[in-house]
Amino acid sequence: MFEALVPEYIATLAAYPPGKPLEELERELGITDSIKLASNENPLGPSPLALQAITKQLDKLHRYPDASLYYLKQGLSRHLGLAPEQLICGNGSDEILELLVRTFLLPGQEVISATPSFLMYGILTQGAGGVFRPVPLKDFRIDLPGIIQAITPKTRLIIINNPNNPTGTVVRRREWDDFLAALPPGILVVVDEAYIDFVDDPDVPHGLEYIGADRPIIGLRTFSKAYGLAGLRVGYGYGPAALIGYMDRLRSPFNVNSLAQAAALAALEDHDFLARTRRLVKEGLDFICRELDRLGIAYIPSHANFLLIRVERPSGEVYDQMLRQGVIIRAMASYQLPEYIRVNAGLPEENQRFLRTFKKVMGFAD
Ligand SMILES: *Cc1c(COP(=O)(O)O)cnc(C)c1O
Repeated sequence: MFEALVPEYIATLAAYPPGKPLEELERELGITDSIKLASNENPLGPSPLALQAITKQLDKLHRYPDASLYYLKQGLSRHLGLAPEQLICGNGSDEILELLVRTFLLPGQEVISATPSFLMYGILTQGAGGVFRPVPLKDFRIDLPGIIQAITPKTRLIIINNPNNPTGTVVRRREWDDFLAALPPGILVVVDEAYIDFVDDPDVPHGLEYIGADRPIIGLRTFSKAYGLAGLRVGYGYGPAALIGYMDRLRSPFNVNSLAQAAALAALEDHDFLARTRRLVKEGLDFICRELDRLGIAYIPSHANFLLIRVERPSGEVYDQMLRQGVIIRAMASYQLPEYIRVNAGLPEENQRFLRTFKKVMGFAD
């Protein structure tokens, strides 16, 4: 009845598919010991140094957070070798994405990205009145030449997820260089590096290598994955100070809460936690891949902390059956991959339980 109040591009938006709270699922299913491998979270929990830092902030919760994000930006500045003016922090990197489309996109202008990739790119573009132009992956990899081909005079932003969620595939240095050389002027390139901390292939460039005052590139990173702070919501963007400055004008001053600021700063210094996380993820995915190889199940080799697995049957059925046995994974139907599931590396015992349940559901003998 309120159609007249809302722009059509909002009324026709498909909402991001949220999951139910774990506790609610368990109550409905009558189980108590479920494991969640569906959101690419850190199986080790939060960084212990981040937890300590939060505790010290608790008695200051009556104060507004630091709107300048002074200490966190100092820490990031040391970590990345960039000036604080080249950094913008957000309520998750999701918020930086939203600031990007609000800052740089006029209604009717186009955003190009890959598909399947992170669903929020399309949702946020449409939400800003933009036109989303997804270019299909080629052999599960982002097709940069295809993206160049898709550029029109209305193209304003190109978003590249490296490594790409949900495939775990990467863009290599040579491909990047060719892409940047072919890029017409007037287009801003966004590199979403949510999973870059898991990459150990030296041929995968960090967006950082490409940051220069005259290059229209912005990198995005998050504390939600490798640093184990998804619940606190903190991420950041980096790029030329002039571009960052425009976004900062739109940022609401207290967008990153004080606990998140303190935790993120401490997590940056928690080198031991990051190393343990990387080792656990690598060993976990290696183990899962070896077992899938033995079973003859196909998957896409991953540079991130998750794995895209081909189940050759409706992924929703596999999801439902695994859910009933307390193993929560992601069915990929909403990513146009109806016969694939995505699972992230868990603790060793979680990986074992995933495989046990998966084998049962897929009809393999023990
Ligand atoms: C998880 C994820 C993010 C979102 O991170 P937040 O900082 O939690 O908002 C961004 N991009 C991709 C591709 C992701 O998978």
